[in-house]
Formats: sequence, structure tokens, C-alpha cells
Amino acid sequence: APIVSIDRLTKTYGNGFEALKGIDLDIEEGEILALLGPNGAGKTTLISIICGLVNPGSGKVMVAGHDVVKDFRATRALIGLVPQELTTDMFETVWNTVSFSRGVHGKKPDPALIESILKDLSLWEKKDNTLRELSGGMKRRVLIAKALAHEPKILFLDEPTAGVDVNLRREMWQVVERLRENGVTIILTTHYIEEAEEIADRVGVINGGRLLLVEEKRALMQKL
Ligand code: ADP
Ligand code: ADP
Repeated sequence: APIVSIDRLTKTYGNGFEALKGIDLDIEEGEILALLGPNGAGKTTLISIICGLVNPGSGKVMVAGHDVVKDFRATRALIGLVPQELTTDMFETVWNTVSFSRGVHGKKPDPALIESILKDLSLWEKKDNTLRELSGGMKRRVLIAKALAHEPKILFLDEPTAGVDVNLRREMWQVVERLRENGVTIILTTHYIEEAEEIADRVGVINGGRLLLVEEKRALMQKL
């Protein structure tokens, strides 16, 4: 069974704006799916609904067999969300930021796990530094470490390389590649074709609240 199943999903915001106009999509466990589309396409709305942060209009979204609306807690526990920017206290240390994030999800402390996450993301040497002392790339990696701290099965990355330089973009792609080796299902939004091409197994093209096509990456690149 797919780990995420989306059936005829629509979303109309309070101001009457139709952000999603009927999305059907199944996401398989262990895959990397890129949602590719221009600004305003509906990408963030879609992942916010799957993560249970925004209510769907009509339709149904299931995560690992749980309804995201009726069973919010069960689905939230399975999901890690990497937002675009750090919103946490910049005077806090890397170690505390990441280990507190596990607590937020009601999980017991697990220093050995936090250590391995920080090592995997090349943040171990910076564990006692405060966030404000980190480079842009390190801050992005802290966002990922926070999302991994409660051991999610699905990781959402919202525009992981928006506004970063080419070197940092490559670094992020390598990080995502290593996460896949650990079996995490990854869904990312992007407006860079090269990013979808570089890291995704499948690409969903979204525009004007519609999913125009979903293709294996190779098939898509032949069409473009
Ligand atoms: P919902 O239908 O989920 O209740 P609302 O339409 O009430 O969503 O809006 C949720 C929040 O998003 C509100 O705080 C609103 O101010 C804010 N918001 C309104 N318009 C926009 C927009 N164009 N982009 C981002 N956020 C917006
Ligand atoms: P993307 O992530 O692809 O840039 P979004 O899902 O953020 O797209 O936004 C899709 C459209 O919905 C945009 O036109 C945006 O202004 C609008 N929108 C987003 N959030 C809200 C909101 N809370 N209320 C009203 N409109 C919104």
C-alpha cells in the first residue's frame, strides 16, 4: 500500500481562493518525490494538508493508513517537516535545538540518536555552538536534524534550496541522498527543474492547484 494516499483533494481558502482543484496522488514508501511548480502553484498548501497543518476542503488524505484529519496525532508522529527557515531561538545551541525537538513530539530523550543524526549531517563539531554562529548551510542542516529527531518515516522538505547558492544546493542534494539510504520517504517542493532532475525518483508537476502529471524522472526529462 502507498504510504501517502491523496484522493480528490481540494482546498479553498477563507478568502475564496481555490488553491487545490482536485489532487489524486499515491506516494510509495522509500521514494523521493519532487513536487515541481512555480510560486503560487499550491505546493505548500498540499504538503501542509498532508502534514495536518491546514484543513482539506474536500477529499481524503491518508498517511500510513491513518486519516490526516481524524487521526492527526498518529499521522503527525510519522511525519517530519523541514520548513524553509529556522524559526527557533538563535541563541540556543545546536544540541539543545535538535534534542528539544524530539521532546516536542512527546518522545523520550535519546542522546545516542541525536549524536548519530548530528554526525550524519556533519553538525557534530558544532553541537555546542549557538544557531546564530552557524553558516547558512549548517542552519539548513539543523532544520533537517530537528525534523529527524523524532524518527519520522516521511520527511517533507519545503523548497530546501530556495535562495541558496550553487555549492549549498549541491550539499543539500547530497544530504537528501544519504537520507534515502536510511529508508526515509522524502517529499520535496521545488521550482527548480534541475533539483527535481538531480534527486527525485518521481516528479509531480503542479500548477494552478492541479497536478498536471506525475512521472518517473527519466520519462519526464525526455518530455521537457
Ligand atoms: P483556513 O481555510 O485553513 O481556515 P484561512 O483562509 O482562514 O485558512 O487562512 C489561514 C491564515 O493564512 C490566516 O491567518 C490568513 O491571514 C493567512 N493568509 C491569508 N491569505 C494568505 C495568502 N495569500 N498567503 C499566505 N497566507 C495567507
Ligand atoms: P506554492 O507553495 O506552490 O508557492 P502555496 O500553496 O503557498 O503555493 O499557495 C498557493 C496559492 O494559495 C497562492 O496564490 C497563495 O497566495 C494562496 N494562499 C496560500 N495560503 C493562503 C491562505 N491562507 N489564504 C488565502 N490564500 C492563500
